Amino acid sequence: MDNKHDILILGGGPGGLSTALHLVKINPHLTSRILILEKEHYPRFKLCAGGLVVDAEIILERLGLDVREVQHVDVDTAHFDFAGKGLSVRVAKKHALRVIRRDEFDAWLAKKAESRGIEIREGVTIKNVRPDLEGVTVETDCGNFRAQIIVGADGSNGITRKCILPNEPLQTARVLEIITPAGQASHKSNDAYFDFFPVPNNIAGYVWDFPTQVHGQPMRCWGIYDSNVLAGHKRPALKEPLAEEMAHHGLNLNDYEIKGHPIRWYEPQNQVSAPRVLLVGDAAGADPLFGEGISMALGYGAIAAREIAESFQRGEFSFRRYRQRLARSGLGQTLFMRWVITYIIYPIKWKWFQILLWRILKPVVLVVAWIFILNWSKRIK
Ligand SMILES: Cc1cc2nc3c(=O)[nH]c(=O)nc-3n(C[C@H](O)[C@H](O)[C@H](O)COP(=O)(O)OP(=O)(O)OC[C@H]3O[C@@H](n4cnc5c(N)ncnc54)[C@H](O)[C@@H]3O)c2cc1C
Repeated sequence: MDNKHDILILGGGPGGLSTALHLVKINPHLTSRILILEKEHYPRFKLCAGGLVVDAEIILERLGLDVREVQHVDVDTAHFDFAGKGLSVRVAKKHALRVIRRDEFDAWLAKKAESRGIEIREGVTIKNVRPDLEGVTVETDCGNFRAQIIVGADGSNGITRKCILPNEPLQTARVLEIITPAGQASHKSNDAYFDFFPVPNNIAGYVWDFPTQVHGQPMRCWGIYDSNVLAGHKRPALKEPLAEEMAHHGLNLNDYEIKGHPIRWYEPQNQVSAPRVLLVGDAAGADPLFGEGISMALGYGAIAAREIAESFQRGEFSFRRYRQRLARSGLGQTLFMRWVITYIIYPIKWKWFQILLWRILKPVVLVVAWIFILNWSKRIK
């Protein structure tokens, strides 16, 4: 077998690229021993609203990367509403959220990785993953690869997790997205809106409306997120609340292309590794509360890289301690708290509770968000 490597990273999204960039930062000697396999060619499409929270920017800054090099839109105020009224979040002298397009962001990150000497092979689709005592065989449409260890960074529908943990329970959210021209919406042009009005109808999530751009043209990104924690109850079709919200703003959902993709989310009891295999990003589990996953994928990369670097020092690849390392990190803590909050704020689905939460308990919600939802990237080692 020709294709022998020490570290194979399967998937070149933020999770895989961050793992490689952190590995090179921790131990530059590993650079030539890393290979990323990606099935698409950059810039490749990825369905995503592209909302970057400050934690994503902090992790990128620590890698010496400035996301302002990528086309973006800065959000002045993020609104968390129930039926059009609620909580507004502004950050003094800063943006509340930064919105990128994933084709541009991921291609930029891949270029940064390549400029640091990391090899990426595009157009290679993983078909099967077979770990054994000596290493891992990765079967692809371009032949077999052999590695000491692999990182499963192939996203919510990835093959790695299915191969190594076939019987693990799977929690996935349903998500739909639509892009419309900016001029037609009546929301404030640089504000982002999250509205939890579908919760009483058993859709455990929210409708969003973000400013964005496509090839420099101002656009709006609309969507609906349903974590699925109320899946046992009677629910309307997912696109109905989205159509309702868009209609409030004079838009007809049927005039636009609608796209959907699942998001696999984190559960504390989930396995995130096997001997010689680590999972990062959506393959390990994204945020169940909002379906946020870009900052998380970047954070997983930092933690996995530390685990891998140490395992090469020891010459031992069981990755037994990865789950604990993750749980103790700022990322593990925020994922755990978001999981707890998901099982509180969505199942208490009555209208009065949602009004209380978003309109009346504003200071409490802000404090909880500040402590448990944001600022976790500073606690990653
Ligand atoms: C509609 C929608 C809106 C979202 N909005 C936001 C948002 O605003 N903010 C936010 O933070 N998160 C958002 N997310 C979540 C976010 O997109 C993901 O959490 C994030 O992309 C996870 O990164 P990743 O690197 O783990 O996986 P991915 O970004 O999915 O990357 C996986 C990579 O692996 C490659 N791959 C997959 N299978 C194979 C294979 N068999 N062989 C080789 N390569 C393979 C893929 O081509 C891809 O490049 C959204 C998700 C959806 C669906």
